[in-house]
Amino acid sequence: MTYDLLIKGGEVLDPGQNLRGKLDIAIQGAKIAAIEPDIPEGQAAQVLDAKGKLVTPGLIDLHAHVAWGFSGLSVDPDVEAAKGAVTTHVDAGTVDAGALPGFRRFIIDAFNSRVFVFLRIPWQQHRFDAPQDPRNALQAHRGEAERAIEENPDVVLGLKAYAGYNVAGDATVPNMIYAREVADRHDIPIMVHISTSPPDIDWIVSLLKEGDILSHCFTGHDQKVVDMYGKIRPAVKEARERGVILDIGHGGGSFSFKVAQQMLDQGEPPDVISTDLHTGSVNGPVWTLVTTLNKFLALGMSLEDVILRATAAPAKVINRLEGLGALKVGGVADVSILRYEEGPFELVDCHRVTKKLDKGLVPDTAVCRGKVLG
Ligand SMILES: [Zn+2]
Repeated sequence: MTYDLLIKGGEVLDPGQNLRGKLDIAIQGAKIAAIEPDIPEGQAAQVLDAKGKLVTPGLIDLHAHVAWGFSGLSVDPDVEAAKGAVTTHVDAGTVDAGALPGFRRFIIDAFNSRVFVFLRIPWQQHRFDAPQDPRNALQAHRGEAERAIEENPDVVLGLKAYAGYNVAGDATVPNMIYAREVADRHDIPIMVHISTSPPDIDWIVSLLKEGDILSHCFTGHDQKVVDMYGKIRPAVKEARERGVILDIGHGGGSFSFKVAQQMLDQGEPPDVISTDLHTGSVNGPVWTLVTTLNKFLALGMSLEDVILRATAAPAKVINRLEGLGALKVGGVADVSILRYEEGPFELVDCHRVTKKLDKGLVPDTAVCRGKVLG
C-alpha cells in the first residue's frame, strides 16, 4: 500500500496558497505525500470520502482555553477538535510557568490534536482578598517565566497579558509593562486581553509591536478599537500598520456584531478569527470555531477570507511547523473536512444581537498528524 490515508473527491480550499479545486490528498505517516486530481483508492489503506465537502488545511484556533483538568475554565482539546473539525488549539494564558511542565506532559504531549501555549502572567487577576502589590509578584515570577520560555521554545509562543480592568484590576498596567520587558528580552509576542478600562485602549496598543496580538479585538466593551462614531481609533490603525495582529477571541463577552460591522465597513477585517473557547462560551454564544467563521460570512466576508483567518493567518503566528495551516506535500498532515450547506443558520453575538446566514459551514472531520480525530 502506497498511502495510509486518502481524502478523496473533495473540493480543496487553501486560501493561503491560492489553491482551490477538486483534488485528492494522500497521507503517509504524519505527512502529506501527494495532492493530485485523481489518486486511485486502491493505493491507500483507508479512504475518507469527501465528495461534496470542502477540504481545508487543519483549522487552527489561536485563542482557546484547553488546560483540561487544570482549570475549571478549560475544555478538552481533543473533544473540541473532533467536534469542531479543528486540528490545533492555542491555549491563551490558562497556565503559568509553574504549571507548564504538567500542561506539557498531560495535555500537549498526551493529546492527539495539537496544542501550543501563550503563558499566563501570574498575579493578574483582581484579588480583593489579597491586596499585595502586583509588581512584587510579577518580579518574583520572572525567573520562572523566563526559564519556561527558554526551555520550551517549541510550544511556548509568547505571553498572555490581561489588560482589562474587570479581569485584572490594578494589575493591568504592571502586567503590560512586565509582558513588554520579558517579551522583548526573548523576542516573543504578547497576546493582550482587552475588555474594560482603565487603562485606555490607546495606551495599550502604544506598547504593542509587530507580531503582538490584540485579542478580543471586536469587543463591545469600552476598550474598543473604534471611537464613539464607530471609526477605527488612530492608535489602533497605526498599530495595524506596524504589524500588530487583530484576533477575534469571541468568548462569552468579547464579540460585538456592531463593532465587527463598523470595522469591516472601513476595510479593517480581523487578521485572525478565533473562539476564546472555554466552559463559559462553548455552550453558546461560541459553540465552535466554525460557528465563529459563519458569523463573518454573515457579515459579508468571503469563504476564502474566513478560512484564511483560521488557517494560514494563525499558522504564521505559531510559525513552528513546516506546512501548518497549509496543504503541502511534505508538510504536516493536518486537514479539516467541512460541509458548506444551505441553512438558515441563526447566529448570536455576546450582546444577544442575532444575524441570519443562508449558507454556512458545518464541521465534519478533523485529521491531525495523519490520524482521524474522534
Ligand atoms: Zn481567553
